[in-house]
Amino acid sequence: MSNDKNTVEESLLKLKKGNETYLNTSTCPGDVSPAIRKDTCENGQYPYAVVITCSDSRVIPESIFSAGIGELFVIRVAGNVISDHQLGSIEYAVDHLGSNLVVVLGHTNCGAVGAAIGGHTGGFIKSITDEIKAAIGEETDGYKASCLNVEHAISKIKDNLPMLNGSDSQCAKVIGAIYHINDGHVEFLD
Ligand SMILES: [Zn+2]
Repeated sequence: MSNDKNTVEESLLKLKKGNETYLNTSTCPGDVSPAIRKDTCENGQYPYAVVITCSDSRVIPESIFSAGIGELFVIRVAGNVISDHQLGSIEYAVDHLGSNLVVVLGHTNCGAVGAAIGGHTGGFIKSITDEIKAAIGEETDGYKASCLNVEHAISKIKDNLPMLNGSDSQCAKVIGAIYHINDGHVEFLD
């Protein structure tokens, strides 16, 4: 663990390589050793990427990207929707921990997206499905709706966090991706 910062491209490459490793293993190769626990406890955390994803139990960000302790700053909420709490968490990771890549990771077969398409929700769940519905409009295809939901989250992040909206190559970036729960593959969206 060190605080030598990756470039955005290096961070993205690390995620892509981590996903490749995940596809070919049945265990999580991320470093969760006593040594890394001690190091990060004494020297702090410098996660290279922020991952905002769904709470779905089939989606495990650290496993998907073969990451260990101190590598990913993970924000999870059903349907990977963005509200002030998520924005505050992203802002903290980028401004105070030095993360330079923010990934909004939707996934296939998302129950929250499906519920938004179905339109029959109530209680507090409705606050999530209303947000997704605003992103997907009348789209009824689950995969396409998940992509629209990711794009909506990215727009919201860029609109609210100017440090993620710069064109400078040194700036932190926000990108979208879809995790395919059937085969483990992460599809990075342009
Ligand atoms: Zn989901």
